[in-house]
Amino acid sequence: MKPLEIDVFLCRSDNFGVLLHDPESGATAAIDAPEEGPILRALDGHGWKLTHIFTTHHHQDHVEANLALKDKFRCEVYGPYDEAIAIPGLDRSQADGDEFEFAGRRVQVIATPGHTAGHICYYLPDDGLLFAADTLFAMGCGRLFERPAADMWHSFQKLMALPDETRVYFGHEYTLSNARFALTVDPDNAVLSERAARVETARKANEFTIPTTIGLEKQTNPYMRVADAGIRRHLGLEGATDADVFAEIRTRKDNF
Ligand code: ZN
Ligand code: FE
Repeated sequence: MKPLEIDVFLCRSDNFGVLLHDPESGATAAIDAPEEGPILRALDGHGWKLTHIFTTHHHQDHVEANLALKDKFRCEVYGPYDEAIAIPGLDRSQADGDEFEFAGRRVQVIATPGHTAGHICYYLPDDGLLFAADTLFAMGCGRLFERPAADMWHSFQKLMALPDETRVYFGHEYTLSNARFALTVDPDNAVLSERAARVETARKANEFTIPTTIGLEKQTNPYMRVADAGIRRHLGLEGATDADVFAEIRTRKDNF
């Protein structure tokens, strides 16, 4: 089985367009459909035909091109069961724990409520790939629009249980701001400082910071490090629950 090919490109102002292509069968999936033009150009550039859209949540910057692409390619649109009514062109709704096949591979659906109530991530265990959209960012976490911090913390724990080497593709290039904020709550973390410096350099050169890995996030993402004694001391939350530390970090980021 040949490895899947992945193309990442910018859509709108800071959304990632992601295409997943199987060179053997020709199957090609778009992870969300933020903007028609850049997705069509990427498909054209490779000579790929879109067969699937994997929608993660209902926000406009993730579903805007669903109908236009479906009209052009007759592709199948997958998306969250809990937001089915809000996903344009949805064909196959997916709930937590559901599994389906793409290009001869297993795709597992992980519900990660927080950013929205029905947000799902797509996990390909055989390829070690996770498409996390607006749940997990490099050194960050999605803004809590529809569910409280405790729910997002529960969602994060599901992703933290995946193998460290899992490659994670996320929805937005927010990494520089996330790194700068992470340093304010976790200033003594040497791995984080080094990563933040690398990100400053990469972004100056206009390079993307995608993908990341679960292992690297566990070392540098403050929302995954809520049990860390140094972070807790720094926040004055030594005796708090993990969910409370998580909530405090998310609140501070909202005001950063
Ligand atoms: Zn969103
Ligand atoms: Fe988004």
